[in-house]
Amino acid sequence: MSFDRLRRISRTVGFRLALWSAGCFALSTGVAFGLAYVLVSATFEQSDREAIRVEVGELTTFYRTGGLARLADELALQEREGTNEPFLVRVLGAGGSVQFVMTPARWKRFDLTHLNPAPSEWVILADRRGRKTLEVTSQGMPDGAVLQVGKTTADRNKMLGRMRATVGRVVAPLMILSLAGGVLIALHALRPVRHIIETVRAIEAGAMDARVPTRHTGDELDELGRLFNGMLDRISTLIAGMRGALDAVAHDLRTPVTRMRVAAELSLRGDPDEAATRQILADCVEDCDQLLTLLNTLMDVSEAETGVLTLSIEELDVSALIEDAVDLYRHVAQDKRITISAAAPPSLWLRADRSRLRQVLANLLDNAIKYTAAGGRIELEALEEPTGLVIRVRDNGIGLAPDEIPRIWDRLYRGDQSRSERGLGLGLSLVRAVVEAHGGEVAVASVLGAGSTFTIRFPSPAVVHVAETNLSEM
Ligand code: ADP
Repeated sequence: MSFDRLRRISRTVGFRLALWSAGCFALSTGVAFGLAYVLVSATFEQSDREAIRVEVGELTTFYRTGGLARLADELALQEREGTNEPFLVRVLGAGGSVQFVMTPARWKRFDLTHLNPAPSEWVILADRRGRKTLEVTSQGMPDGAVLQVGKTTADRNKMLGRMRATVGRVVAPLMILSLAGGVLIALHALRPVRHIIETVRAIEAGAMDARVPTRHTGDELDELGRLFNGMLDRISTLIAGMRGALDAVAHDLRTPVTRMRVAAELSLRGDPDEAATRQILADCVEDCDQLLTLLNTLMDVSEAETGVLTLSIEELDVSALIEDAVDLYRHVAQDKRITISAAAPPSLWLRADRSRLRQVLANLLDNAIKYTAAGGRIELEALEEPTGLVIRVRDNGIGLAPDEIPRIWDRLYRGDQSRSERGLGLGLSLVRAVVEAHGGEVAVASVLGAGSTFTIRFPSPAVVHVAETNLSEM
């Protein structure tokens, strides 16, 4: 493995996670081993001291019953039979002079002159090389003599040493194993993150259809992958929509611009007749106005869709708003012999942008009038439902075919039956964008040949105050 690759691995989150887990493992193992070591060492010491105490008890009995001679005999007997444990036994006379001493041969290195003759609980004596220690206790006898019994700590030190060595031999490989295992686990767990990085790189390289492979495990990283894919799908749809809109705009611009060009060219070629020139210029102004309306509406839709449309939110009286909208279209409807009725509770208030909401209602009413035959009927109503405010525009006009319904919200879409009517195909796109910019939603239910109902819903927080419902025919 090259140094560069090693350096890259050492920088990965997986490696750092593994290092942390190995560190935690080392720390907890160290603490556990330290505790066990202290415990075992204390147990060894306790058992050594207990053995010395038992020996002191036994030897004291011998001394009391038969003096130093009996004690020496018993010890000699035990040594012959090989039943004694290796103890240091020393008896000091009342004056402190050594009366008796028995030391196992391999303990000769201890300098017993340093052993305090006074009876005391425990004395630790190091050998001349300072390696082994002797643990001694003293016991006063009735005749003033002092019995000293001791035992070397060499055996227990050896066992503790073995314990340390074993732990060292086991823990070091375990640490390496835990580090390697940690790296593997972390690399496996972070695989979805690497997939996301690879996907982003592929998209950067131009593969717009690249997606993160999901494993359907239901964990957070899988969820992240699915959300990421969802976001990419949405972006793709938006880009496709923008491309489509751009094509449609180009298409819609071409006709009036070509018309203006042809008119201008003709007027340049022919005799400069003032009346004809004025007519051509008037036509150009009309075409320019139409183009400006188209461009402005397109920009409004885009701004509303991308969330940058500035809304001046205020509290609006819904019934007044509906009344105004109906007043605006009453004459157009009358000309076409269409009846408009409106109904709204008198004290229903909504937090919204006044001019944008007027635009929404105007577009829906305008469409209803355009796509309803003479003698038809249009109903506009507002009501409060548990989920919020609902505004409905219902007509009994030409209606929509089922396959047409999803497309009517697209920018510049115009139904086949609507070609004879004026319009840009942007009214409903604007309605939807503005309603959604207010946090609401709009839907349509329609039957071909029977009529359509457009329903706008604003969520409850937008509704300000609701008094008793009092429907009125306007
Ligand atoms: P425009 O009315 O300028 O064509 P819109 O975006 O307002 O554009 O509407 C898009 C299409 O939806 C219309 O061309 C028409 O086919 C259809 N449409 C809209 N409103 C109605 C309605 N009330 N009844 C039947 N069709 C409708």
